[in-house]
Amino acid sequence: MAHPVLVAAELKNLLEPTQLVDLDITWLAADQPTPKGDWVAIVPLLSRWVGGTEFKNLPKLRIVANCAVGYNNVDLVAAEMRGILVTNTPGVLTEATADLTWALILALARRLVEGVDLVRSGQWTGWHPEQLLGLELRGRTLGLLGAGRIGQAVGRRAPPFGLRILYTARTPKPEFERETGARRVDTNQLLADSDILSIHVPSTPETKGMINGETLARMKRGAILINTSRGDVIREEALATSLELGHLGAAGLDVYADEPHIHRRLRAAPRTVLLPHIGSATEATRRKMAAIAIENVQSVLSGKPPLTPVYS
Ligand code: NAP
Repeated sequence: MAHPVLVAAELKNLLEPTQLVDLDITWLAADQPTPKGDWVAIVPLLSRWVGGTEFKNLPKLRIVANCAVGYNNVDLVAAEMRGILVTNTPGVLTEATADLTWALILALARRLVEGVDLVRSGQWTGWHPEQLLGLELRGRTLGLLGAGRIGQAVGRRAPPFGLRILYTARTPKPEFERETGARRVDTNQLLADSDILSIHVPSTPETKGMINGETLARMKRGAILINTSRGDVIREEALATSLELGHLGAAGLDVYADEPHIHRRLRAAPRTVLLPHIGSATEATRRKMAAIAIENVQSVLSGKPPLTPVYS
């Protein structure tokens, strides 16, 4: 008999029927609430909160197969207490997200969007030696706040641009250091020395609000801040203030604390590139993410261990 499972409807086009054998799928659109019933698995998008109430309403649930590498939308403690497995999609989105991080770094360093706006507005009067002067990357310092899979992939792209790499992490990454010349420092030094600071820590109680008025003030004047991790690592109002005052040079964000809502002062702040959470948005990557999520469900429902559990 096919297993009853809930799967985010937005993944339908990314999955082939052959991947869905033995599953009796109820497609759940992002704007629908999580229903009550006898489903044994759920494959949610990162925008769906899955916690105590959902677990109570889904008493037969065995696995939450999140379609994302981050899993701050799942109450892990409540899941573990009920013996429900939680899985994510690590690895497959690393390179796509690192590419997007670099798109933001280059866009801000070379004032790409301001240039596009100038041309589109019809106000461009021709080449000028001091027009839209940007930041020369060679010889500058890239700081990685967190150097896991994505942070390291961002760092590995830096040496050809002549950037020196500093990083923070709770555990040293010797292979990454050998490969790139990166140096592990404490958060104070990272903030003080980075010309470009790129955030790659997950959203956890420790990292929430790590970038706030006080830490922003410790960054170099004119520095560029990039966040392709999770929005709540930054206090958005404090970031808006720093940009308004001209302390921070620019900010490139893909993620926000309360998506899709973006703090109105941040939307209005100068020198930003604000993207709609598209870090992993390539077709190949999104297909792989959907595939891993479903493989985790198939594995657990056939009595095997999950492929990518978030806790063991
Ligand atoms: P990961 O491999 O788990 O890397 C996170 C790193 O952060 C770990 O290596 C960890 O190293 C470090 N870390 C954790 N807490 C820290 C702290 N308090 N201070 C300093 N470092 C800390 O995860 P990943 O695959 O690189 O993904 C990172 C995050 O990116 C995900 O959690 C997800 O939220 C986000 N993401 C966003 C998009 C997007 O579409 N924009 C796409 C993919 C992922 P230590 O354990 O050594 O500290």
